[in-house]
Amino acid sequence: MSHKAECSACVLAARSDLDIRLLAGESMMMLAQLFDVELFALQKHKRDHLQRLPIQLRDDPGTILNDLQRAEQSAWQVLKLAETAEKVDYKTMLAALREIRASKETQVKIAQQLQVMIGGLPQDRWERIKDAIAKALEPFEDARVAVIAAIEQVE
Ligand SMILES: [Zn+2]
Repeated sequence: MSHKAECSACVLAARSDLDIRLLAGESMMMLAQLFDVELFALQKHKRDHLQRLPIQLRDDPGTILNDLQRAEQSAWQVLKLAETAEKVDYKTMLAALREIRASKETQVKIAQQLQVMIGGLPQDRWERIKDAIAKALEPFEDARVAVIAAIEQVE
């Protein structure tokens, strides 16, 4: 049996999530609780077994977005567990809430970047181009009206 088969972090279904968050430098104690792994096992896992996968994922914003969403779901689970624990665990609840908020902020940023990439031109640049077209067509009133109407339909 290889040493990896004995590592409780390596065999997790959510191992990729875990590795990404370890690489991101998230709190080991938080992650140990979140992924239900002993702290010492997690430390050993971080030192010896981290995958290269997360580095590849950074190249694709869509993939990162998916990972963030999955990580956020895990944080929601922790929040629920902390809320419903016999002795309500406020410290973990707050930590989970911080995770969720940070994750949301990053998701929004990435979504905006994706939108700019997909939409092509940033809005202010497009407004300037539209103004320039309208100005250039000023001597040709009929054409100006027709072009502006056509643009408005596309928008
Ligand atoms: Zn491991």
